[in-house]
Amino acid sequence: MSNEIHDLVSQENDYLVSLRRDLHAIPELGFQETQTAARIVSELAAAGLTSQAEIGGTGVVAVLEGERPGPTLMLRADIDALPVEELTALDFASTNGNMHACGHDGHMAILLGAARVLAQLRSQIAGKVIFVFQPAEEIVGGALAMLDDQLLSNYPADKFVSLHLWNQVPTGQVGVNRGTVFASADGIRITVKGRGGHGAMPHMAIDPVVAAAQIISAAQTVVSREVPPNEMGVLTFGQIHGGVAPNVIPDEVVIEGTVRGYIPETRDTILASAERVAKSVGAALGSEVTFELLYGAPPVINDPETAEWVAGIATEVVGDGNVIEVDPVSVGDDVAEFINRIPGVYMLLGASKPDAENHHNAKFDFDEACLAIGTEIFVKSALDFLK
Ligand SMILES: [Zn+2]
Ligand SMILES: [Zn+2]
Repeated sequence: MSNEIHDLVSQENDYLVSLRRDLHAIPELGFQETQTAARIVSELAAAGLTSQAEIGGTGVVAVLEGERPGPTLMLRADIDALPVEELTALDFASTNGNMHACGHDGHMAILLGAARVLAQLRSQIAGKVIFVFQPAEEIVGGALAMLDDQLLSNYPADKFVSLHLWNQVPTGQVGVNRGTVFASADGIRITVKGRGGHGAMPHMAIDPVVAAAQIISAAQTVVSREVPPNEMGVLTFGQIHGGVAPNVIPDEVVIEGTVRGYIPETRDTILASAERVAKSVGAALGSEVTFELLYGAPPVINDPETAEWVAGIATEVVGDGNVIEVDPVSVGDDVAEFINRIPGVYMLLGASKPDAENHHNAKFDFDEACLAIGTEIFVKSALDFLK
């Protein structure tokens, strides 16, 4: 049967490649993926599956019922693009100012390919497969939007399998970690409110520029003094805005930053300490500080048992020695919201191409040979879980 599945997937290779290219040409930003979602719905319909659109804004869900009863497997792909002007010179390059610079076009092609193959194998399926097309991963929020839209009460699942194409892993290999894959990712905003005034008469003002400078300096001790040395933690301030003229003390300064950690405890520590330091340093200097969480995703930590099982399936597809453990990466992904609710796994599917730039680069591209590999792993995972 294993070879039969390999052949079925191989027959879909042209479909996978041309669909990926079509989707690559129409990249849309998070929660604006209307054209993309419409294409997903029509591809699902062509595969004989009815779907429900507009879940969590622009998300799409389809269900494949096997011929016999059994458990439910959820498969997920993210569908959004980035505000990057494409510079690849591919003939299917985007011209709309956005770009699939992370590989989500490949994720959609793989999941739709798996839906097409599995739809032909209904008689071998005991249970259900739920196909989830999630919007707005890059801006963190699509997963929670779908969950808030009752995704799991309407479509409960027992197991969750998902993947991300990964340019740091050679094509033909798959990273399946037994634990941490990606870090948590939070955005924070610190607003320092003072009292504006004349730059020559600072005693009549409360200077938020000085307070902001001290908050940023003091916050450098959060990771160095409060996160255990054997744990990874990051607190980076990437933006600071305030002021209009050299001789005017502004009313307020806004600082924005990002927080990363591989374990929930590190994330909680950095967020709580950054807030404490900002508010107390700000107060010491007479300013008033508000601390806001702009967005957030927990760390992506695979369920070890599910990872073990999927590693076995992936080994059947790519061969002994080609399923590897990958060092955790400090990027984030809100797939964590699913894996925290359903025992699940996030694979890093090798997709590297010689001289290709990294994810999010304007010249990013990946090796399309990975599409059939990802599809075969999804299909075999479904058939094995629902046998
Ligand atoms: Zn990305
Ligand atoms: Zn991505």
